[in-house]
Amino acid sequence: MIYAQIKSGRKLHLVCEAGEEDRGSIVRYGYLGAPLCGQHMEGNYRMTINVPLGNACKKCRLAYTRRTHQ
Ligand SMILES: [Zn+2]
Repeated sequence: MIYAQIKSGRKLHLVCEAGEEDRGSIVRYGYLGAPLCGQHMEGNYRMTINVPLGNACKKCRLAYTRRTHQ
């Protein structure tokens, strides 16, 4: 799991990395999953980062908490 930004200045969404399960399928090598919150995503992320820098998407964090408590 890694944080990814779609556009400059926007929130960081949580996305699955290669080898992690994203909604029933494994993310392929060289790819990233869609934001956990369901935000529409086309093309490439602007950047990815391991820490949210205090600007993480709340919906993604909720989805992540749900996911880890299943
Ligand atoms: Zn999100």
